[in-house]
Amino acid sequence: MKTHTQVCVIGGGVVGCSVLYHLTKLGWSDVMLIERSELTSGSTWHAAGGFHTLNGDTNMAALQGYTIGLYKELEQITGMNCGLHHVGGITLADTPERFDMLKAERAKHRYMGLDTEILGPAEIKERAELVNIDGILGGLYDPLDGHLDPSGTTHAYARAARMGGAEIVLHNRVLETNQRADGTWEIVTEKGTVIAEHVVNAAGLWAREVGAMADIYFPLHPMEHQYLVTDEIPEIYERGTEFPHVIDPGGESYLRQEGRGLCIGFYEKPCEPWAVDGTPWEFGHELLPDKLDKVEASIEFAYRRFPVLERAGVKTVINGPFTFAPDGNPLVGPVPGVRNYWSACAVMAGFSQGGGVGLTLAQWMIEGEPAQNSFALDCARFGNWITPGYTRPKVIENYQNRFSVTYPNQELPAARPFKTTPMYDIFDGMGAVWGQQFGLEVVNYFAEGDEPRYETPSFRRSNAFAATAREVMAVRNGVGINELQNFGKFKVTGTDARAWLNRIMAGRIPAPGRVALTPMLSPKGKLIGDFTVSCLREGAFNLTASYGSQAYHLRWFLQNLQGDVQVENVSDTRTGFQIAGPKAAELLARCTRADVAAMRFMDVRPMVVGMADCVVQRLSYTGDLGYEIYCAPISQRALWAVLWAAGQDLGLRPFGMRAMMSLRLDKFFGAWLREFSPDYTAAETGLDRFIAFGKPDDFIGRAAAEAERQKGPARRLYAFEVEAEDADVIAHEPIWIDGAVRGFCTSGGYSHWAQKSIAQGLIPADLAQDGLSVEIEILGRRRPARLITEQLFDAGDPRMRG
Ligand SMILES: Cc1cc2nc3c(=O)[nH]c(=O)nc-3n(C[C@H](O)[C@H](O)[C@H](O)COP(=O)(O)OP(=O)(O)OC[C@H]3O[C@@H](n4cnc5c(N)ncnc54)[C@H](O)[C@@H]3O)c2cc1C
Repeated sequence: MKTHTQVCVIGGGVVGCSVLYHLTKLGWSDVMLIERSELTSGSTWHAAGGFHTLNGDTNMAALQGYTIGLYKELEQITGMNCGLHHVGGITLADTPERFDMLKAERAKHRYMGLDTEILGPAEIKERAELVNIDGILGGLYDPLDGHLDPSGTTHAYARAARMGGAEIVLHNRVLETNQRADGTWEIVTEKGTVIAEHVVNAAGLWAREVGAMADIYFPLHPMEHQYLVTDEIPEIYERGTEFPHVIDPGGESYLRQEGRGLCIGFYEKPCEPWAVDGTPWEFGHELLPDKLDKVEASIEFAYRRFPVLERAGVKTVINGPFTFAPDGNPLVGPVPGVRNYWSACAVMAGFSQGGGVGLTLAQWMIEGEPAQNSFALDCARFGNWITPGYTRPKVIENYQNRFSVTYPNQELPAARPFKTTPMYDIFDGMGAVWGQQFGLEVVNYFAEGDEPRYETPSFRRSNAFAATAREVMAVRNGVGINELQNFGKFKVTGTDARAWLNRIMAGRIPAPGRVALTPMLSPKGKLIGDFTVSCLREGAFNLTASYGSQAYHLRWFLQNLQGDVQVENVSDTRTGFQIAGPKAAELLARCTRADVAAMRFMDVRPMVVGMADCVVQRLSYTGDLGYEIYCAPISQRALWAVLWAAGQDLGLRPFGMRAMMSLRLDKFFGAWLREFSPDYTAAETGLDRFIAFGKPDDFIGRAAAEAERQKGPARRLYAFEVEAEDADVIAHEPIWIDGAVRGFCTSGGYSHWAQKSIAQGLIPADLAQDGLSVEIEILGRRRPARLITEQLFDAGDPRMRG
C-alpha cells in the first residue's frame, strides 16, 4: 500500500469505484481506494440493479442519462461484462395528476434529447401484456431503462480505474482521518497510515461513521428495502423477448424480469429506518430478516396489477439497507468549511446515478467546478442547522413518497416546524399558510375567513390563487409587508473588504451609502450567485442572496478568502421586513425621524425605526417603490408592532412568497436557481448588464465573460405571454418555434397585476424579436405564446426609482 497519494477514496461500493474511475479518466492517476472488506460489501452487492432516467430534476435526469450511457463504454474499456439488459421501461399513471406529471416529464425530455414516449393503455398492454390495465390512464415509456449486474459493474469500474493507474486496497478499514496543518489528510488504516491531499467519503452505509472521524455530520440515513424474486413463470420464459420494466407508482412497486421469473420491489408506507444510532462495523455481506408484513398491502396491490404474480411462488426475499438524504438526492461535493474533504454519499440509486456522481465529483476536484449545475446533489444544499432528529423523519417521508406525484407547489409536512422566526406565532394567528426553505418556515400566503389553511398540491392553479391575487393588489395599490428572513445574508468587513469583493463579484461594488446588484461568476463564467451588495461605510458591506444557497455561497467565499477580510453568515441573526407599494415611503416616514424622502433608489441608511436599530435599503424585489428594513431578531416584534400600527389606514397587508413570485414576474425579474443558476452565463440571462467590465480588477470569471461578450451568447432569456387557461408554466417546458423545439422555460406563473400568464425562457438569440409567436407545451398541450419586451408594471421604472 502506498503511503502518499493525491486522493484517497474511502469505500469500494459502486459509488467509490465510479469516483476512482472518473478521477483517472480526467487525468489524475496517483489515486487510491481503501475498502474495509471486499468491493461491493455495503449496499451494492444486494441491489436489484435497475436503472432509469426519469427524474423530476432535469439535471439529475441528465446525470442519470450519462450513467446509463457509460456502461457500454466501461465494457469496452475493460472487456468485462456489466450484465446489461436495456429492456425499456414503462411508468404507469392511474390518476390524472400522475398522468399530468408524466406528460410534463415527456415535454422536458424533448429538449433534453431523450427519446421517451407517452403510451395509452392499449399500447401498454401491447408491450407489457402481463399488466392489468384496469384504471390505467397511460404511461411513459423510456427505451433506456433496464438493469445490470451490480457486482460485475462495480468490478468493471474498479478495473477501469486500475487501468488508469489507481490502487485499490481491500480488507483494510479506515480507522481515523486527521487533518494536518497544511490541509492534507492523515488516513489511519488497519494496514498503516496514508497521507492524502484529498479525502473522498464514499462509505455508503458507513458514511456517517466515516464522517464523524472528521467531525462532520452527513445528513443521511439507511432505510430497509425489500424486493422479491419469483420462481419461474411460463408467461415470462416463453416470451420471445425480455419483459420490460414496469414501475407502478400507484402500487409503490417496480417490476422486472429476473432470469425466467420476475423480481418486484416496494417503497412501502410502513417503512423502517435501519441502524438509527449508527451502522455496526461488523455488518457485511449479509441480509436483514424478511419483513413481509410491511409490504403485505403492496403485494396485494401488485397481485391486482400483475395477476401472474399470484400464481408464482416466491423464490427469494431480499431485505437490505441503503442510504438516503432528506430529499432523496445524493450528497456530493466539497464539504463546506473542511479543506480537501469531499462527499460522495447518500446515493440511493447507485446504478442510475453512480456514474454521474463520479463524473461530477472528479470534475469538481480536478477542474474546480462541475460542468453542470449540481445544486440538486450538492452537499451544501443543507446547512449546519441540520440534525439527526431532522434527517430521520425527512428520510422516512422521502422513502414513503418515492413514487408519489411531486407537485411544484407541494410542501412536505415531516420535521416541521423546525426553524422559525420571532414572527411565527403572529403570522400563524393571521392565517399564514406555511412553506419551508432550508429548514425555515416561510409564509406562502395568508388564508382569510373560511379559506383552508392548506394549499392543494397541483400542476394547475391552486386554491392559493385568490389569496395571492389579494396580496398582489394590496402591494400595487397600497402597501404590503413581508418578512425578510429568507435571504442569505453576509457581513463582509476588513480593510481589504472592497478589494476582495471587487475580485469575487463581477459587478460594481457600491460607494458608502449605496447599494448595487452584481452577479458572481465561476472561473468558467457560470452564474454562481446574484447578489445585492450594500456599503454602510468603507470596510463594512452587507450582501444578500438566496436563503437556500447560503452554505453554498459561504463555502465559495471561504475557499477564496484573501487579505484582511472577515465574512460572517448573518442569515439567521439579521431579519426584518420589506414594505412595498405606492404608500411604502409614507409608512416608513411615519415610523422614523430620519428623512425618508431624501433616500434615493438604491440608497442604504442606518435608521432607527420605532425603537429598533435598523439598516434600511431602498429597493424591492416586487419591482415597486419599496424598502428593506433589517434588524436583529430580538427587536423584530417591536419593529412589526410599529409598522403594523402605522400602516392600518394605508391599507397595509402582509404578503407571502406566492405573491412575491407573481409580483416579480410583472418586471421579468429572474429568480435564483430558476433564471439564474450555474446552468447559465450572465450574458444568457441578461445579468451581464450588471458586470463592471470597466473596473480594473481581475474578477473571477472575467476572461470567460469577456469572451462571451465578444461573440454574444447563442441563447438568451426572454419573457412570454402565454394563452394558458388553468395551468401556467412552472419550469422546463419546451418552447416550440416554427414546429420545432428551440428552447425551454426557466420559470413562469400568473401575473395577478396584469392578469396574464407569463413565462420566462431561453431561446436562440438570433430568433428573438418582440411579438415573436411561439408555442409552450404545458401538461402535454401546446399553448400559443408571444415574446414580450415591455414590463407589465411600471415600465421604465418611474415608480420604483421615483
Ligand atoms: C434491496 C436493495 C435494492 C436496491 N436496488 C437498486 C436498484 O435496482 N437500482 C439502483 O440504482 N440502486 C439500488 N439500490 C441502491 C444501491 O444499492 C445503492 O445506491 C448503492 O449500492 C450505493 O453504493 P455506495 O457505493 O454509495 O455504498 P455502499 O455499497 O454501501 O459502499 C460503501 C463501501 O464503503 C466501505 N466502507 C465503509 N466504511 C469504511 C471504512 N471505514 N474503511 C474502508 N471501507 C469502508 C464498505 O465496506 C462498502 O463496501 C438498492 C439497494 C437495496 C438495499
